[in-house]
Amino acid sequence: MLTPQLQKLISPVSSPTQKTEQTQTKKRKKMEKPIEKFDVIVIGAGIMGSCTAYEASKRNQKTLLLEQFDFLHHLGSSHGESRTIRATYPEDYYPKMVLKSETLWREAEQQIGYKVYFKTSQLDIGPSNDKAIQSLISSCDKNSIPVRVIDRNTMSLEFDNLIQLPHDWIGVVTEHGGVIKPTKAVSMFQTLAIINGGFLRDKIEIVEIKKDNKTGDVLVMAKNGEKFSGKKCVVTVGSWMNKLVRNISGIVIPIQPLETTVFYWKIKKGYESKFTIGNGFPTFASYGEPYIYGTPSLEYPGLIKIPIHGGRPCEPTDRTWAPTQSLDPLKKWIQERFGGLVESTRPVLTQSCMYSVTPDEDFVIDFLGGEFGEDVVVGGGFSGHGFKMGPIVGKILSDLVIDGETKEVELVHFRIKRFEKNSKGNLKKFDDQLSSAH
Ligand SMILES: Cc1cc2nc3c(=O)[nH]c(=O)nc-3n(C[C@H](O)[C@H](O)[C@H](O)COP(=O)(O)OP(=O)(O)OC[C@H]3O[C@@H](n4cnc5c(N)ncnc54)[C@H](O)[C@@H]3O)c2cc1C
Repeated sequence: MLTPQLQKLISPVSSPTQKTEQTQTKKRKKMEKPIEKFDVIVIGAGIMGSCTAYEASKRNQKTLLLEQFDFLHHLGSSHGESRTIRATYPEDYYPKMVLKSETLWREAEQQIGYKVYFKTSQLDIGPSNDKAIQSLISSCDKNSIPVRVIDRNTMSLEFDNLIQLPHDWIGVVTEHGGVIKPTKAVSMFQTLAIINGGFLRDKIEIVEIKKDNKTGDVLVMAKNGEKFSGKKCVVTVGSWMNKLVRNISGIVIPIQPLETTVFYWKIKKGYESKFTIGNGFPTFASYGEPYIYGTPSLEYPGLIKIPIHGGRPCEPTDRTWAPTQSLDPLKKWIQERFGGLVESTRPVLTQSCMYSVTPDEDFVIDFLGGEFGEDVVVGGGFSGHGFKMGPIVGKILSDLVIDGETKEVELVHFRIKRFEKNSKGNLKKFDDQLSSAH
């Protein structure tokens, strides 16, 4: 007869399959970390999410910023070398957001100790009867932004004979222009968020967000199985917004991803320094069809950035990475406006980027509603002109999750509900140039 000890040794208590299951369960239990809790979880680390994480952490909220790819990747909208900052908008609700952002850009630069914002003037040009140009002048007036309206002769004098205008065009000059370095700026806000005690994680793709009925918190689930819990959540996922929000809530926010291309052109030998901020060269936009914009020569010496606004509808995961528009109108524009001082036969450098566009090209900044009520806030649809306002948008989004309201701006133009009343969103006074991009 076997002793009980020997019996235990030779006869397994459970079958091999049962044993494997038990081991796996034990392992899982060991691996399953308790869900970490935060005050604010921000999903998407482009400029909007990074500014929001900075603001929320500055206000002593335990903040987590999550990004699906590597930080500072080039697959969304906030990467690259230059973005225009300007206060000239045909809509009169943007200039004050830009002016507030100017102050916030400077404050952030002071905290970090380096520059991301290079100031110059802004020049808008177009036919003198263009409705958008006219609205832009009156919107500056309403916002007490001094503008100078100049004709082609004054233009030549002021800008060193570099820019030629047709006889029926005007130029509008304001002092609120400049270039922001996007990748450097996103990195700045992420660093400042960390300095404020924020937590940042990349390579975490969020696939589900739901309410935790027991605690009332918001549960955020990643593709790799990790879970996070936040009292509040901000969704700033750029071109991925429509799909993610529809999947988690059934709510449709009409934000269309577009792929677009940035072009750099070579300045003729001997003229390179003329097109720089040091020589007073402005950031610029040309109204009419097509809408063309550009920045002074800065990031690549001897080259100047001149793209066309707009692009081709795409899925963020299915892009061609190829130029989206015919270049002929742009080449003609460069030849005529820069009088042969910029080589217009072909761009020497191209970069791909994505816009996330709403039907009225106005932002979406709102509580998500539905089962999430005011616990989830969305910031998206920045329609190719949001970067300059990243700091104020981050402030507004964190106001909404922390205080339930913001005093920074009237949100009526940015509410999701506007698309219920009219699928095209806000009505604009100017029909020839809906967009006030860049
Ligand atoms: C070529 C070009 C030129 C522009 N020029 C100007 C300009 O001159 N001036 C100006 O003001 N604006 C300009 N803009 C617009 C501006 O860059 C954008 O409005 C702004 O960058 C949008 O930022 P975002 O944070 O909303 O989006 P994004 O930068 O795309 O950030 C969203 C982030 O969310 C992440 N994400 C998505 N889904 C998930 C998920 N499920 N889980 C985790 N993370 C997720 C993405 O990976 C991405 O990093 C330009 C845009 C382009 C493309």
